[in-house]
Amino acid sequence: MTDIVKNLEGVNARIQEACTAAGRAREEVELVAVSKRKPKEAIQEALEAGHLLMGENRVQEVMQKQPDLPSVLRWHLIGHLQSNKVKHALHCRFELIHSVDSVKLLQAIDRQAGEEGWMQSILLQVNVAGDGAKFGFKPEEVPAALDVCNLCRNLDVQGLMTLPPLTQDPHDVAPYFAQLRELRDQCSEESGFELPHLSMGMSRDLEVAVQEGSTLVRVGTDIFGARI
Ligand SMILES: *Cc1c(COP(=O)(O)O)cnc(C)c1O
Repeated sequence: MTDIVKNLEGVNARIQEACTAAGRAREEVELVAVSKRKPKEAIQEALEAGHLLMGENRVQEVMQKQPDLPSVLRWHLIGHLQSNKVKHALHCRFELIHSVDSVKLLQAIDRQAGEEGWMQSILLQVNVAGDGAKFGFKPEEVPAALDVCNLCRNLDVQGLMTLPPLTQDPHDVAPYFAQLRELRDQCSEESGFELPHLSMGMSRDLEVAVQEGSTLVRVGTDIFGARI
């Protein structure tokens, strides 16, 4: 068995254990294997192990990888998207864009999706910690962003995503994940959007994320190894 196959088994076992501990069904949480800066061969190995869902953070990189890989793969964009890359991003046919972080970007995606007759599923990225360095809506900006989504005919907003600040102890991110869940609950009630997805949790803190209600964990290092 290769490292990637073994690592996938390990990460799936961790998700299963976290679901059991949280009293959740395993089907409620999906694993996004973050293949950024890893070669096509690594993705191929994951695919052969039966894993189809890949996360990437750069549109350019996906455009390089996709043509040589089987079309059964499912792709999620998890990194910041610049407005001038929206057209390319749409051509990658991402099943979900996790990282929509401004109204301008929402409108650009909606416009481009409209031109292509494509319904683009998205998440709104939220900067729950309010730390200046990261991308994302401030929590208090999310209701207005959802109002904009309501007017966008080619967007299907499915939930919220966050990248918490790096803490010494992974358990210390729990309040940020809980905050995202509470924000989702509140926004869902007020906006009428169902918002079923919470994208939170990575290699170091996926257990905490599952405990707090994550439906999409984004795991790179613990599947594909450290990135150089
Ligand atoms: C790289 C990345 C991940 C994966 O992080 P690991 O620590 O390698 O699991 C998850 N989410 C985002 C947004 C990333 O950019």
